[in-house]
Amino acid sequence: MREHTVSGERIWLPDDRKVVRCSDYCADCGLVRVDGDDRGRELGFYIDALTRVQEQLRQKSKVLMLRPLAEVEVRCIVMAMRNDDLFSDPWGSYRSSQIERFFELLGRHRPTLPRYLVERWTA
Ligand SMILES: [Zn+2]
Repeated sequence: MREHTVSGERIWLPDDRKVVRCSDYCADCGLVRVDGDDRGRELGFYIDALTRVQEQLRQKSKVLMLRPLAEVEVRCIVMAMRNDDLFSDPWGSYRSSQIERFFELLGRHRPTLPRYLVERWTA
């Protein structure tokens, strides 16, 4: 997890969606911090969500007619998230972008996994 230092002064800047906000930024690297409801979450939140999906599939794979999520699939997805600034450096990340990437990574391994089975854990 990268460490950042709040600069103490705030700047007016358009964010990724062209909304101008008064934002904190890092005194060391200049990265602007995302604030508000769409603020990114720590990697641990998504690892936890993935574990819950795995547990759910393990318990209900027969009812859902889906095979469980293999340990190696979980490891691959966690490794991909660790190597992605969206998750490893959430100071400048939007939660909505993280969630899209999370589904993209999951979909690489399990393209037929229904999204509704996962969404409750990422909400
Ligand atoms: Zn920084």
